[in-house]
Amino acid sequence: MIDQFERLPGIGPRTAQRLALHLLRQPEEQIQSFAEALLAARSQVGQCQTCFHLSAEPTCEICRNPERNNGLICVVADSRDLLALERTREYSGRYHVLGGLISPMDGIGPEMLQITSLVQRVGQDSIKEVILALTPSVEGDTTSLYLARLLKPFTEVSRIAYGLPVGSELEYADDVTLSRALEGRRAVE
Ligand SMILES: [Zn+2]
Repeated sequence: MIDQFERLPGIGPRTAQRLALHLLRQPEEQIQSFAEALLAARSQVGQCQTCFHLSAEPTCEICRNPERNNGLICVVADSRDLLALERTREYSGRYHVLGGLISPMDGIGPEMLQITSLVQRVGQDSIKEVILALTPSVEGDTTSLYLARLLKPFTEVSRIAYGLPVGSELEYADDVTLSRALEGRRAVE
């Protein structure tokens, strides 16, 4: 059990040990439901057919929520970034998950990402603004410029920036930094 925990990101030997000992002290039903939750997640979770966020349903909770602003789409590289933005509770629009960033060095071209589906969404719906929430890195910049060029004929395109250090991962930014980055977004020229 300790070995299994150690394979998880961000878990060192000590934490792995502590988690294992903690679980051993739990009642058997608790362990049972924990194990079942892991297996169920693996077999049931797929992608939302609209925004490509992780979802156990054909359409994710965010896309199904009628309270959210239909005129705004925030573009993120993956679901971890989406979850980081959701934690701030500052954003009430929709999302689009690209599934990565354009990276010629790693052989990742635009056709390997959810870009066509994004352009279709923006073209069909009345989207007022697309917010690019991509990491400040070479790949993030390349992808942002590429998307801005494609989307500008249809809508306003902005990019979050303020307070995020170059190369930083969105998912590790604290809520305040991320909220400010969202608020301080600038139109892409
Ligand atoms: Zn969705």
